[in-house]
Amino acid sequence: MLDVRDLSVKYGAFTALHGLSLNVNPGEIVVLLGANGSGKSTLFRTLSGLQRPSGGSAAWQGQPLTSGKPEFNVSHGVSQCPEGRLLFPELSVQKNLRLGAYVHRKDPAGTERELQRVYELFPILVEKKHDPAGSLSGGQQQMVAIARALMARPSLLLLDEPSLGLAPLVVEQVFETVQRVNQAGVSVLLAEQNAFAALGIAHRGYVLESGKITLQGTSGELMNDDRVRSAYLGV
Ligand code: ATP
Repeated sequence: MLDVRDLSVKYGAFTALHGLSLNVNPGEIVVLLGANGSGKSTLFRTLSGLQRPSGGSAAWQGQPLTSGKPEFNVSHGVSQCPEGRLLFPELSVQKNLRLGAYVHRKDPAGTERELQRVYELFPILVEKKHDPAGSLSGGQQQMVAIARALMARPSLLLLDEPSLGLAPLVVEQVFETVQRVNQAGVSVLLAEQNAFAALGIAHRGYVLESGKITLQGTSGELMNDDRVRSAYLGV
């Protein structure tokens, strides 16, 4: 499982995460709800090995994620789909996908198999594979970003704000895709501001405020919590 314990991250004198603890069990979709600036991206950057914590620990299936070596984290099953997608817009969809398999560069046959698997999960990308990624719609670009993260063959996918900037119908499609990815055996930690859509597919969730977990529960519990309803569901 993902075992995050008392994790603290500082930027100079500013503390972005204050002793945060959370878990993701194998097979789960866990949502992390939080407003802009609450620390979601900082947590993801730390779990990806891009940011060193100032205290605490984080491990996936017993492997520490805090050594500050992103390639170690990816090769031990943790792959991030970053906020804003960060695709290479001039490169074709297929070239973007292949870049996601960089850690498996010594296994080209495995990468070809993964590419086929990813196209089965995202049929829309088959017909777009030779198009520049930047020419796709927002929703399709989000699919490319998720598919690229899957090319690293993760067992844990860190998905940062996949609904950002997408129309409600497209958000629904993206979240259905996340569910299919999960059903294919990938655990998911999903950072979202779109609480309604995220709680609709997640098993459990946490609320992050100013770098602290202030609430946790099953999706049903969070959906019915007055604080979540007023802060994140607009009711
Ligand atoms: P968003 O959805 O806007 O990305 P977030 O919840 O992901 O928000 P973070 O980006 O993790 O939040 O930021 C958490 C806090 O840390 C914010 O107050 C932010 O201003 C601060 N912060 C983030 N990166 C840095 C940095 N490199 N240097 C200093 N402060 C930073």
